[in-house]
Amino acid sequence: MNKVMLITGASRGIGAATARQAAAQGYALCLNYRQQRSVAEDLAREIVDAGGQAIAVQADVADEAQVQALFATLDQRFGRLDVLVNNAGMLEQQMRLEAMDLARWQRVFAANVFGSFLCCRAAIARMSTRQGGQGGQGGAIINVSSIAARLGAPGEYIDYAAAKGAIDSMTLGLAKEVAADGIRVNAVRPGVIKTEIHASGGEPDRVNRVSQSVPLGRGGEADEVAAAILWLASEQASYTSGALLDVSGGR
Ligand code: NAP
Repeated sequence: MNKVMLITGASRGIGAATARQAAAQGYALCLNYRQQRSVAEDLAREIVDAGGQAIAVQADVADEAQVQALFATLDQRFGRLDVLVNNAGMLEQQMRLEAMDLARWQRVFAANVFGSFLCCRAAIARMSTRQGGQGGQGGAIINVSSIAARLGAPGEYIDYAAAKGAIDSMTLGLAKEVAADGIRVNAVRPGVIKTEIHASGGEPDRVNRVSQSVPLGRGGEADEVAAAILWLASEQASYTSGALLDVSGGR
């Protein structure tokens, strides 16, 4: 049986690029999306038409009941889970911290941090080789953080940077906690990557502005982040756990 990978936020950007590379490597895919049903279903169909296995499943990862339903669908359809890619993430309009309200911090932490926690918890129950798990075979979790976690995103979105910092800490602790369960946990920290996320911060052209400060002299492609995710998922990374892998052009 093919290895099964769940990618959250797979309808576009880094998630969709990861899905296409994973399908080419033979993974069976559960593609989570929140709103873009037709886009996610088109991607799943594209993979199936090329001879792969993929389903698209709607869920807001910040909602506990929806995450439970997502994993119930995964269980029913595939009966196992080998790799979780916690890719779903969002940011809001660029502004200084003193202009932000509490509700915004709650939304940003809910989608980025709480969603990753809920999916990690559900994945461990299925992957763990320990008694008490559901008879798992071990696995790999890749959290999509950001170099904002160490740069801090001043003047843009300190809330988002802080949420990604929390994801880094969770990655470090969880890697140690579940190592004996046969599960590796790592994070990728993308730099400035050409996706639609920058428009939601109010600056669609942000990649061009920021790329001047990237040592490699350009913004990154979603496929370049996906390649790092696929490597961390693979047996090639069998001795890598608790790593925070910057994919940021040297920035
Ligand atoms: P994107 O093009 O905006 O895609 C984000 C994806 O996440 C979409 O599919 C979106 O679905 C989904 N999503 C957002 N909130 C969700 C929720 N609560 N539940 C389920 N799905 C949700 O962004 P991207 O650039 O590919 O970002 C992917 C990841 O990389 C994010 O974690 C982001 O923080 C991280 N990252 C990106 C960059 C960059 O420069 N692009 C840099 C560092 C880190 P909907 O459209 O349905 O909401």
